[in-house]
Amino acid sequence: MKTTVAKFGGTSLSDAEQFRKVKAIILSDPSRRIIVASAPGKRSDEDRKVTDLLLDTWDCFEKGKDWQIPLNRVQTRFEEICRGLDMNPDLSEEFEEIRERLNTKPEKDYLISRGEYLNSRILAGFLGFTFVDPEWCVFFDENGQLNTDLSQRMMKAALLPLENAVIAGFYGSDASGRIHTLTRGGSDVTGSLAAAAVNADLYENWTDVSGLLAADPRIVDHPKTVRYVTYRELRTLSYMGASVLHTDAVLPVSDLDIPINIRNTDLPEEEGTTIIRSLPDGEIKYPIIGLAGKKGMSVIQIEKLMASDGAGFTAVVLDILKSMRLPFEHCLTGIDTVTLVIRSDLLNPCRQELLNHIREELSPDYLGVSDHLSMIAVIGEKGSNSSYANIRALNSLTDAGIPVSTINQGAGKLNLLIGVPEEKYEDAIRCIYRTIEIVR
Ligand code: ASP
Repeated sequence: MKTTVAKFGGTSLSDAEQFRKVKAIILSDPSRRIIVASAPGKRSDEDRKVTDLLLDTWDCFEKGKDWQIPLNRVQTRFEEICRGLDMNPDLSEEFEEIRERLNTKPEKDYLISRGEYLNSRILAGFLGFTFVDPEWCVFFDENGQLNTDLSQRMMKAALLPLENAVIAGFYGSDASGRIHTLTRGGSDVTGSLAAAAVNADLYENWTDVSGLLAADPRIVDHPKTVRYVTYRELRTLSYMGASVLHTDAVLPVSDLDIPINIRNTDLPEEEGTTIIRSLPDGEIKYPIIGLAGKKGMSVIQIEKLMASDGAGFTAVVLDILKSMRLPFEHCLTGIDTVTLVIRSDLLNPCRQELLNHIREELSPDYLGVSDHLSMIAVIGEKGSNSSYANIRALNSLTDAGIPVSTINQGAGKLNLLIGVPEEKYEDAIRCIYRTIEIVR
């Protein structure tokens, strides 16, 4: 029998109506046996996520303010959900325990994990599935890093014997047995771990969009939904700022070749985006699948005549960055030049120190910094169409009079990175998007 691990995000479980949709989705496919749940998300733009309310509670607690106010709002959210589902679990006891813990043994991660804990228990009751607490099967090491091997072994032991289960996302326990949370959006990672642990046929990630869009909808009107995307393409998109899945959610399932299907709880009939290692037979491979980008970049240009004739010029630059623990986004090398693209917010506090180091150690003929750059990634495992697609993308910018300050492709051809002035970022995305439509 097939097994699908289905993770439902916060908006999919934000109120009783959404719970009903989720139940209908789960019951419509018997393979959906392992369910991973987030805390209730926003019901409208003005609303607050339960996790944010719990963070408010912690904030008030630390500052000596009245933390009962945000905590009461959390309690009301859960009571409304239960009432809407005609369920009456004893939530007052649960909240008494939370209050008691804040008074006697306050722990931030414990507090903010309660959104997932309670939502998953309610969902398990509503579905008639077994509740699995990740406190007993998701583990972090003494440095707070996820212990993937141990978590997968323990999850396997917890989940495999069960016919069906709801496991709470976002948390587990640390080396000393205390509750520890993942970073925000971490239920995606719990879902991925669960899918890997039971060697699922499919990992479904149910959210409020019908998959991955080929560009930011705030910039491009109605961008296309991408039907298939490879793990590598997704990683590049996420790195460049497209927020689809938590970046750590890909590795556990990609290692086992388990596809991830991003689906929309409000439009379950839509097939969404499937993330896979390579395209299924017969599917058309588009040279460009999407665009993503980041603003707020600075460019450092270093030039020294004859530097390329010797060895180690670039290595010295990289050593300086390493010694200053300053990460760079991109490093481009040319004849006698090295260009670094660095996030301005990271560069600003140590800009002068970095320039001094470079001057002292390399005595460059030219050293210049420019700010307000944006980087755009034109992404796609382009195959043989690579050059055509990339040239079209660059031409579209030239035709629109948008200056290109850096170009970086590399032999892998997975992504073409283009640097354009920040004020031209949106125009550039729109120009290249039109090109995508042409080369598709
Ligand atoms: N509830 C947590 C958050 O809002 C984790 C999650 O939803 O995945 O970030």
